[in-house]
Amino acid sequence: AKRQGRNHYEFYMQELTRQAAERLEVEAALRRACRNGELELYFQPQVELRSGRMVGAEALLRWHRPGHGMVMPLQFISIAEASGLIVEIGDWVLADACAAVAEWNRGDAAPLQLAVNLSPRQFIRHDLAGAVRRHLQESGCHPSWLKLEITESLLLDGDRTVEDMLEALTGMGLAISIDDFGTGYSALSYLHRFPVSQLKIDRSFVGDVPGDRSKRELVKAMLSIASALRLETVAEGVESEQQAEYLASHGCRLAQGYLYGRPMPRAAFEALLATSRAA
Ligand code: C2E
Ligand code: CA
Ligand code: CA
Ligand code: CA
Repeated sequence: AKRQGRNHYEFYMQELTRQAAERLEVEAALRRACRNGELELYFQPQVELRSGRMVGAEALLRWHRPGHGMVMPLQFISIAEASGLIVEIGDWVLADACAAVAEWNRGDAAPLQLAVNLSPRQFIRHDLAGAVRRHLQESGCHPSWLKLEITESLLLDGDRTVEDMLEALTGMGLAISIDDFGTGYSALSYLHRFPVSQLKIDRSFVGDVPGDRSKRELVKAMLSIASALRLETVAEGVESEQQAEYLASHGCRLAQGYLYGRPMPRAAFEALLATSRAA
């Protein structure tokens, strides 16, 4: 038994060392990714449930890592956050997102709104409002064309700088959305304290609607909270007509999910946009 215990220990240490080495390797590769143009934004449509019209999109990051193909955010965002690289990466995301939506909305009567994901790290370590202002100016993007997605955990810190930063951003005319709503600690009191304009209902609830009774009740409750607080709602991970119908009939305004389109490269999204605007 003693000998076996020791083998387990050695195996455990080897595994830890392997994981640490891999993280370091990803971090080093990621450090070059921005500079080498290995990052790309994909875009996923957001539609208005009532009309079926595409009214916006979410920008989702992809990394073309040399020798590894396309790497998904779940495999590198947490490493980027832990190492602080997310500040530089997030800045690139903002610049690219502004440039894209500025071009899509040039001269068009019904502008799209583009949602961009922000990490908590971008709030504490950075002159975020200043950076956003600069990207808006350089691209000619109107502030109202941009929506920033943040998570509940950022607000639960109750941090004064976060509150000031959000006030500065909304003061400039940007919209703020609470991403993955319902999965966090949901101390609902923060909803009226911060200048939030949208709740994004997490896929983990939407996926089991309308089949699962408790998920159905939770979604209904979230939609009624949003309505009481005059917040816009968007459901993520909508994959079926039945889900869309249920959400629409309970007052959800927007939907995003495979039913309407997967995240896609910019050229494919622009082709879809052209078709949708011609209709
Ligand atoms: P998220 O913000 O919750 O993004 C939604 C995720 O759900 C995306 O995964 C999207 O591809 C996926 N999804 C969309 N519709 C459906 C559907 O109908 N069914 C299913 N099963 N999945 C769907 P993705 O692109 O892998 O992104 C994962 C997470 O990485 C995002 O979750 C977000 O938290 C983070 N992320 C992505 N881009 C960025 C970024 O630019 N900055 C930061 N900080 N985080 C990002
Ligand atoms: Ca998001
Ligand atoms: Ca989400
Ligand atoms: Ca989610």
